[in-house]
Amino acid sequence: MQQTTVPPRPAATVILARDSDHGVEVFMMKRTTEVVFAKGMHVFPGGGLDSADYAQEMTALCAGIDDEHASSTLGVEQGGLAYWVAAIRECFEEAGLLIGYRDAIGQRPLDASDAPRLAMLRSHLAEKKQSFAELLLGAQLRAATDQLVYYSHWVTQPGRPRRYDTRFFVAPAPADQIAMHDNSETVAHLWVRPAQALELSQRGELNLMFPTIKTLESLTRFGNVKDLMAFARTKPPTSMMSPHLSTARDGSIRTLIQGDYAHAEIRKLDPSNQGIAKSDIDPGHPVNIAPQVWRITAANPGVMTGPGTNTYLIGSAQTGVAVIDPGPELTEHVNAIVQCAAGPIKWILCTHTHRDHSPAARQLQALTGAQLIGMPPPPYSNQDQDFVPALIPTHNQRLQIAGVTLRAIHTPGHASNHLCYLHESEKILFTGDHVMQGSTVVINPPDGDMSVYLDSLRMLMSEPIDYFAPGHGFLIGNPLEALERLLLHRQDRENKVVAALRLAGEPRSAEELVTDVYQDTPAQRHALAARSLLAHLHKLRNEARVSEHAGRWCLNDVQGHTERTR
Ligand SMILES: [Zn+2]
Repeated sequence: MQQTTVPPRPAATVILARDSDHGVEVFMMKRTTEVVFAKGMHVFPGGGLDSADYAQEMTALCAGIDDEHASSTLGVEQGGLAYWVAAIRECFEEAGLLIGYRDAIGQRPLDASDAPRLAMLRSHLAEKKQSFAELLLGAQLRAATDQLVYYSHWVTQPGRPRRYDTRFFVAPAPADQIAMHDNSETVAHLWVRPAQALELSQRGELNLMFPTIKTLESLTRFGNVKDLMAFARTKPPTSMMSPHLSTARDGSIRTLIQGDYAHAEIRKLDPSNQGIAKSDIDPGHPVNIAPQVWRITAANPGVMTGPGTNTYLIGSAQTGVAVIDPGPELTEHVNAIVQCAAGPIKWILCTHTHRDHSPAARQLQALTGAQLIGMPPPPYSNQDQDFVPALIPTHNQRLQIAGVTLRAIHTPGHASNHLCYLHESEKILFTGDHVMQGSTVVINPPDGDMSVYLDSLRMLMSEPIDYFAPGHGFLIGNPLEALERLLLHRQDRENKVVAALRLAGEPRSAEELVTDVYQDTPAQRHALAARSLLAHLHKLRNEARVSEHAGRWCLNDVQGHTERTR
């Protein structure tokens, strides 16, 4: 079903915050039931941008920020300042609070003595006797744009009749002004602690939209306005959160935002946002992730495998079917793969030979006679030694199979024989364990190698990829961001290793270091974490930054000599 999608209208919203004896309070208004959008909802002041908000003369009437700065902050080419203007204008229209200065140079805040003229100016604006720019100019006022800090970005999901592309700002509430709803669009107002607003919404006493709920949740952690503003100033929002509907395992509708594991996949599989794509991975249930590409997950969930190992099938009855990573040796899963195949299975490809990825190849080959493709296992006990490939692809070799081009990309690091396969026309990279969702992969020496792993991650940055299809988890969108995050995470871990060694001041074993370096990881996972930690130490040793004697490690000084124990 094709649905027309309306483009979202630019909008601005301001969260006014003030300190109270019980913590931060924010200003909310109840919208009338007479409006079309957000009927009877409690919202922050705000609304759509007017063409007048973009007017050239506004620049001179805004204090402390110009269009160039505003636009770069929002990541738009130009016209960014109009969002600040709209937020301030809407707040004045709806709440009677003018975030402004009472002089033309923008230094003296408005105070209680300004109340009568503000009330008059507000009525002029409501009666459209004056534009906002004319009003500021005539009264020698300035919009206090320097008080508003960009906080978050929400876009109404596709498929809705009215869509907004809304920039949220936070600002300290004007100290000496009294708020008053306009009795037309808004019929009530209140100052409320974010946690209290969420409670009232739970009890059905406030109606809140999804972005409002998420915003209130994010505000609960601030004890005072100063902290909130400091946070907003140092952490500019970069991501656009677009809520998307999906169907959970129990059949209920679930709203997902960026950052939720299934978000990118749901957006790809259900672009008109009907809520039909699944937000859970269920073993044995095939998911059609692209034309003639299916994913079916084995029933081997766990700490290392997430929801289970993903097997991918590509092809049709005409082309024959290629299977990527048949998974662990579970007869039920092998049968499910055969059932799911749209045609005869002719190729079985493995990304690597860890025991949750390749062992089912034997059974599946016995059933189908398919050709085995991959790199042979290195000689370690945690490798599937029964995997004997008939075709060993070279790096960047293009395989013309199952009606598509799959390019093999050698990505050692997690395993020395690790291959990713790029579906060139769909721009989907089957990543095996090179990139997985939800956790970082274990780099287990000697076959696992941290330096090589990081190089293999960087190598993917120049590849034309739209999605990662990992060995564990949902499709991952924005591959470049995912790679950057993984690289940063490893750099962060390495820094912690160096810091722990410096603090110890004497040689330490990997097992001793793990409690310092993996404080954020549950203790039951420390044995595994110690393996990745060892991989970090090996990398640092290759770089001559640490030395090892009898399993104990210490930092070298800058010349590469061992630091003396003090
Ligand atoms: Zn693996």
